[in-house]
Amino acid sequence: MTPHHLSPYGWHALAAAHSLHDARVLLAIHVDREARHNTSSLRDAAPLLRSPIWGVRHASGGHGDPTSAILTLERGPARVTTWADISRRLDGRLTWLAQQIRATVAEDPWWAVYETLPRLLPGTAAVVARHLADDDAWVRSRDVLDLPAAVVPLPGEPVPPACPACRQRNLHIQQTGPIEAWTVVCAGEWRDGRHNPCLCVGAGCGCGMEVAVEGVAHIWPRAAVLAGVRSETTSGQARIPCEARE
Ligand SMILES: [Zn+2]
Ligand SMILES: [Zn+2]
Repeated sequence: MTPHHLSPYGWHALAAAHSLHDARVLLAIHVDREARHNTSSLRDAAPLLRSPIWGVRHASGGHGDPTSAILTLERGPARVTTWADISRRLDGRLTWLAQQIRATVAEDPWWAVYETLPRLLPGTAAVVARHLADDDAWVRSRDVLDLPAAVVPLPGEPVPPACPACRQRNLHIQQTGPIEAWTVVCAGEWRDGRHNPCLCVGAGCGCGMEVAVEGVAHIWPRAAVLAGVRSETTSGQARIPCEARE
């Protein structure tokens, strides 16, 4: 896929798809190992027993809470969850998502969704991005793969570049998938214990995005940001240029 001319929602969807792809690769390794060494399933799946996602309370904790064991019995899965179960559940969600956007699922539902991304209208891309991000967060969570998000702070000398919209130095680079699909996002600002996300204000926004969409969390193609950082002088301010910028 050539990720040119994606809307900001399309960029969010693309980044989430690639992040989920990397997590699925690791999941497939677990499934494979589980199939070859059947006895390791219980040990591998042990963290899931305390996962709030599965509606199960930790049976061994909370002596003062006599209901925890009952909840485990009543609300627990019918059998111990295996990596194969998780993989099937994820593929089921991706297949459902592919069907919602009328993608043809030939073999891999991830691929079916991914391939359709460039053709999605921005509103649909926004919904798809949210579903992919949710699935990625679930499969990377502490109770499943325990895999951190593939996001690192954007480095810079002497100080990291500032966001051209909110001026916070809190830009992060999302580095999954091919390098041309990498993106930079602004994590916004924490003040007085509250998080202020950095959202686009649409036309006239300082973000410099070719397509500025009101309300969407700021996201830029990595190449555009690095070009801005390289061309900056001594001010320490990143300018994020694009063709549409005067
Ligand atoms: Zn910002
Ligand atoms: Zn903006």
